Amino acid sequence: MTLDAHLNDELAAWDRDNLLHPTTHTANHARGSVPGRIITGGDGVYITDRDGNRFLDAFAALYCVNAGYGRTEIADAMSKQAHELAYFHAFAGHGNTPAITLAKMVMDRAPDHMARVYFGLSGSDANETNVKLAWHYNILRGKPEKRKIISRWRAYHGSGLVSGSLTGLAAYHAQFHLPLDGFLHTHCPHYLRRPDLDMSEAQFLDFLIAELEEMITREGPDTIAAFFGEPAMGTGGLIPPPEGYWARVQQVLDRHDILLIADEVVTGFGRTGAMFGSDLYGLHPDFMTIAKGLTSAYAPLSGSIISQRVFDVLMQGSDDFGALAHGWTYSAHPVGAAAGIATLKLVDRLGLVDNARDTGPYLKQALSDAVGDHPNVAEIRGVGLMVAVEFMDIPAARTEFPAMTVGPKISDAMMRAGVVARAMPEGNIVGFAPPLCITRDEVDIVADALREAVREVLG
Ligand code: PLP
Repeated sequence: MTLDAHLNDELAAWDRDNLLHPTTHTANHARGSVPGRIITGGDGVYITDRDGNRFLDAFAALYCVNAGYGRTEIADAMSKQAHELAYFHAFAGHGNTPAITLAKMVMDRAPDHMARVYFGLSGSDANETNVKLAWHYNILRGKPEKRKIISRWRAYHGSGLVSGSLTGLAAYHAQFHLPLDGFLHTHCPHYLRRPDLDMSEAQFLDFLIAELEEMITREGPDTIAAFFGEPAMGTGGLIPPPEGYWARVQQVLDRHDILLIADEVVTGFGRTGAMFGSDLYGLHPDFMTIAKGLTSAYAPLSGSIISQRVFDVLMQGSDDFGALAHGWTYSAHPVGAAAGIATLKLVDRLGLVDNARDTGPYLKQALSDAVGDHPNVAEIRGVGLMVAVEFMDIPAARTEFPAMTVGPKISDAMMRAGVVARAMPEGNIVGFAPPLCITRDEVDIVADALREAVREVLG
């Protein structure tokens, strides 16, 4: 659609005049200087806009439509549940069949030491729940001062006040008086971003662990409740952890009685080629955050999974102090839960975890074959079906292009060629995290589009 046609179009005008979009240039959108794309359909790994253009979605929307678009099993399950019982709350012990069933399915898949799941609506609110429960846990243990939370730079844990504080991306802080007091950040565990170019990977890992130890000692272990981490980082650039990182971090946390909260919003339900990133990297978390893949985004639903040792304290706490004073109206929503049940059945039936494990390396190789020898490609990295290509002006010297210049141009060029890839924040990183049902032939289309886009933008 041309800009003129777009400006004269009624739906686009309603959009400009009424809807404040998330993570969007507010003024450009309101002025109509950037024609927004209105998506009207989806099927498998493809989406369609209202002008009939078709795109291969190599980022599964926001790495969430893991089962792919147009799954009638999920839509039908939601419709059936909405007809039967659209909603009743879960407060004061009330239950509904799909939420109870989904809780059982989630706990069957979670590591053995996990005990319960609390359902929310978004990754952000589930992280909010996890921080509150970590605080509650220490209050119940008579340690109310043990409340600071450590996260990492380049982490993404959401956009709420607490989850935005956990997030380690400058723009998410600078616009909003964040982080709140008591939220600390350690160095991003990405070898490419080591402080000193001469460091070996082993030295970098030692540096990360020493930094964490120093932070804990400086702040006082009795003031620190929890350490938050995505098993493999997502929005910060699709960054697998250095070899041995989680085992070393966990040793430090255990020594100081600090809880580990694994944010599995992206990595949960197969994205890394394992059911959870915690399984893949051997984490033994006290809390796990789940969302996105839980329903493949057919309905907003998240979960906070808590360990037996935390649950035991919560049990004791309610005997001593009464009901847990934490609840969202839509916790354990029946329609969301019905979507979750249908999604997890589909994940099993289609073998999506195995497909991520098999097709992930193929994707990484295909992208490497396409652009790996380009002089501006600094790194191609990833795990399972989350792979990033990072661009720099002079990779050997780590001289960056200005942030968010080249990456968005490449993703725009790919979009013109019919493939969605995501320009990730703070740098020039193009991310790929397609639906977990993607085939090798579809991967080849993605790799070809990247090759052409890089040629067009960087020569
Ligand atoms: N945690 C991680 C790792 C995420 O990637 C995200 C969103 O992308 C969130 C939390 C926040 O989830 P939501 O956007 O559903 O609030």
